[in-house]
Amino acid sequence: MEVRQETDYVLHHAQKILAIFAAMRDFARHLRAAGHRVRYVALDDASNRQSIPDNLAALAAHYGAQAVQWQQPDEWRLDAQLQAWAATEALACTAVDSEHFLTARDDLATQMHGRRQWLMEHFYRPMRRRHRVLLDAAGQPEGGQWNFDHDNRKPWPGTPPAPADWRPSHDHRALWALLQRCGVQTLGEPQADALRWPLNRCEALACLEAFVTHALPHFGDYEDALASRAPRLFHSLLSFALNVKMLHPLEVVQRAEAAWRAGQAPLAAVEGFVRQILGWREYMRGIYWAHMPGYDRHNALGHHLPLPHWFWTGATRMRCLHLAIRQSLDTAHAHHIQRLMVIGNFALLAGLDPAPLHRWYLGIYIDAFEWVELPNTLGMSQRADGGRIATKPYVSSAAYLQRMGDYCQGCAYDPQAKTGERACPFNALYWDFFARHAEALGTNPRLALVYRQWHKMPAAQQAALRAQALQLRQRLDAL
Ligand SMILES: Cc1cc2nc3c(=O)[nH]c(=O)nc-3n(C[C@H](O)[C@H](O)[C@H](O)COP(=O)(O)OP(=O)(O)OC[C@H]3O[C@@H](n4cnc5c(N)ncnc54)[C@H](O)[C@@H]3O)c2cc1C
Ligand code: SF4
Repeated sequence: MEVRQETDYVLHHAQKILAIFAAMRDFARHLRAAGHRVRYVALDDASNRQSIPDNLAALAAHYGAQAVQWQQPDEWRLDAQLQAWAATEALACTAVDSEHFLTARDDLATQMHGRRQWLMEHFYRPMRRRHRVLLDAAGQPEGGQWNFDHDNRKPWPGTPPAPADWRPSHDHRALWALLQRCGVQTLGEPQADALRWPLNRCEALACLEAFVTHALPHFGDYEDALASRAPRLFHSLLSFALNVKMLHPLEVVQRAEAAWRAGQAPLAAVEGFVRQILGWREYMRGIYWAHMPGYDRHNALGHHLPLPHWFWTGATRMRCLHLAIRQSLDTAHAHHIQRLMVIGNFALLAGLDPAPLHRWYLGIYIDAFEWVELPNTLGMSQRADGGRIATKPYVSSAAYLQRMGDYCQGCAYDPQAKTGERACPFNALYWDFFARHAEALGTNPRLALVYRQWHKMPAAQQAALRAQALQLRQRLDAL
């Protein structure tokens, strides 16, 4: 069912609503062709009550149903809503596992019980063993190590060329017209005449094959790179197909492993890719279910600044943020380092309120569903949960951004300068962040070097950096 409840719970990117509804319509056609009886409730159906429980109640009454079964939703919001509805109905209601994940909702919490910090690495190795991924005959990790992250941190020199966009293109102008007729509010560019997302399993499998052939061999090397000429670099763009269940995570992981065994991609690239799906994706889901409800209200660092208006337009002179946000508005996608080390980094250093930031991330990305977006944004990126996921905050000054790509070339700001009109805002904000949060972060052994550097700085330099940061934080809209 297409319902306003789902189009409206947050302001979504136009492509996100278009792609989800178009994929649902395609799936309904596929099921009918396979001989199933399908009742599809379109957004403008006269009988559509625009809420899932209201529609379920009406459908159950219409068909004289005795029982209703559903697949467990991935989000707490829907799970709670369906359970509350079931409690008021005289029907036999059952929720079944969607069988889409490689762990149960509470596996991570069980596995980490008693540990102070729930690190991904502690979770990833047993996952490799449990699913027998990239193991040798003796059950040890192929290549003699579990993690090749150190090999995967190179800037992209421009060669090999980044692959052309392999995704299909769809004309969904009629569906876009329907959304507009119904008054659905969206953000970003709809690109309804050339919607570049896989909308069924067949297309998703073709995308997986294209990724394995054209990008996986270089995925590891340039996983953390930033490149203005190649926004997608060697990333898979498979998160949408995975999250809407067109692809199963294990088949994606096994396809990547098969490419390594066939000599089509190096081990470091394949391990790096496998870790994202077998590790991070499942781990984030475990974090979500262990901490919901209420995880979305954490604000451990007490950050309260509103999002600058350019989050909705990309109109900022900071070239890195301009490129990452504009790309997000145009394509509904940004790769991990753009989300974490450009947009998230700035938000954390500046002290933006994590709750509206979470809603921004939840709306803008094609793959954004709360079970994966919330722990990534609030936990990993903003440390609003007090540091349950990472041993130290994901922040950097301009030096890191300059090292990882070409974003600083042609920027109105100078990445080397720390104070003054043209100084890159990341620099003063970086030091001010650590000074402001010395009480919460100053005893963290992984930050000892940062605090040593700060304390060694002459008082006048410290004061100048803090004054610069204060001024920046007072006029974020103008940056
Ligand atoms: C602040 C922030 C918000 C994010 N929000 C989302 C979100 O709403 N939905 C989402 O799917 N991912 C999210 N991510 C994780 C990651 O950025 C995206 O999965 C990735 O950029 C999707 O593009 P891709 O398919 O090309 O990924 P690739 O780089 O090709 O990675 C392969 C796959 O690994 C998985 N993956 C990689 N990193 C993560 C991660 N940190 N958590 C979970 N899965 C991961 C994804 O399924 C992805 O498709 C977020 C990251 C950050 C820092
Ligand atoms: S100079 Fe600063 S603001 Fe400009 S692109 Fe580099 S890091 Fe971003």
